[in-house]
Amino acid sequence: MRLSRYFLPILKENPREAEIVSHRLMLRAGMIRQQAAGSFSWLPLGKKVLDKVCKIIREEQNRAGALEILMPTIQSADLWRESGRYDDYGKEMLRIKDRHERDMLFGPTNEEMVTEIFRSYVRSYKDLPLNLYHIQWKFRDEVRPRFGVMRSREFLMKDAYTFDIDFEGARAAYNRMFVSYLRTFTRMGLQAIPMRADTGPIGGDLSHEFIILAETGESQVFCDRDYLSLPVPGENTDFTNDAEIDGIVKEWTTPYAATDEMHDEAAWTKVPETHKLSARGIEVGHIFHFGEKYSKPMGAKVTGPDGKDHFVSGGSYGIGPSRLVAAIIEASHDDNGIIWPEAVAPFDVGLINMKPGDAGCDALCEKLYAAYEKAGKDVLYDDTDQRPGAKFATADLIGLPWQVIVGPRGVGDGTVEVKNRRTGERDVRKVEDLLASVE
Ligand code: ATP
Ligand code: MG
Ligand code: MG
Ligand code: MG
Repeated sequence: MRLSRYFLPILKENPREAEIVSHRLMLRAGMIRQQAAGSFSWLPLGKKVLDKVCKIIREEQNRAGALEILMPTIQSADLWRESGRYDDYGKEMLRIKDRHERDMLFGPTNEEMVTEIFRSYVRSYKDLPLNLYHIQWKFRDEVRPRFGVMRSREFLMKDAYTFDIDFEGARAAYNRMFVSYLRTFTRMGLQAIPMRADTGPIGGDLSHEFIILAETGESQVFCDRDYLSLPVPGENTDFTNDAEIDGIVKEWTTPYAATDEMHDEAAWTKVPETHKLSARGIEVGHIFHFGEKYSKPMGAKVTGPDGKDHFVSGGSYGIGPSRLVAAIIEASHDDNGIIWPEAVAPFDVGLINMKPGDAGCDALCEKLYAAYEKAGKDVLYDDTDQRPGAKFATADLIGLPWQVIVGPRGVGDGTVEVKNRRTGERDVRKVEDLLASVE
């Protein structure tokens, strides 16, 4: 992509409305545009990152055996009356009427709808386990939308729903999602800690929030430092092997970790003083076993091996991709701007032409640009006539992992500078060596 053809509305000034660094940087880097309270458009740079985040989520959901579907955003109130949640949900639900005066709503979540799909088709235990997910916009009329896309009213969610014949099956499904989440966040360059979360009237211990430690986080959390060095399950994890998955979950639930509501002072005193981490955190994912909460009132049942009907045992598993984009920035930035982990960077490389119009610089940039494109690398070529200082500032602000800097002096002796955004290190590289490494 040539910057001269791109839409990157960079802001020079710090936007006054932004209270936290991720919100400030997303606005300054031209990633998002606020449209109303808690409602944002995603501009080209932001959309690219959001897509990369969703791609990782998809790959890891699929690897764990979940199947992607897509359900509508607007739902019928009647469905929610069946589960009893139409009245219970309260003011966070945006209620709408259609032209026939029928009650509709903008979905804040999809348990009812997916249960309706399940009960319409699935009749036998032989069709289980089943895990259906989608990545779709949600609307929650938050009392206090703030921090940009971190707590917005319209936001993207990946929500998966599992169906099993009994609690044992549901627990295995829960564990698969647990392990899938560990891999998902790690691939985005994040350290997410699974913390015991409130199960409310459902009871049991099958609810975990995945938390990123950050000063700007809205939750108070308590955990053992051991989490920071636990090994994350690898690519060849076998999701069909319940014992292997169970072992990983045991390892990742043994050290102490709890959110505010679940904090247990007695257990906390047993954690060695030097291991105690009491911090603020951002909830980026939440997995929850709810058993028959929806299957019973909505009549979702299957015939078991015993020939009898069983209400299915369910769970739901959410991740907030839009919140994640902000959380990644909270975890990875410096005074000059964003520092994208390579896996979610909007472009792999920024190519900076220090002197457009100079025949040597232009020719070398075109050559490098073509080589990156050919190698399938996403490259943003700054071919604009801005001053070098402004170009460097933009490159640092938008945080591409690598910057390749082409200037007249280097063109003379066949070299370019390559800067690593994270370390700030600049290496002079021979053009031919760089070209060879691109292929
Ligand atoms: P919170 O405690 O922050 O209000 P929640 O517990 O209400 O979140 P869940 O119902 O567990 O959220 O939804 C699953 C995921 O969706 C959350 O873990 C979070 O990543 C994301 N999410 C929830 N609410 C918002 C929001 N208002 N803006 C952006 N992402 C959100
Ligand atoms: Mg909430
Ligand atoms: Mg929460
Ligand atoms: Mg939650």
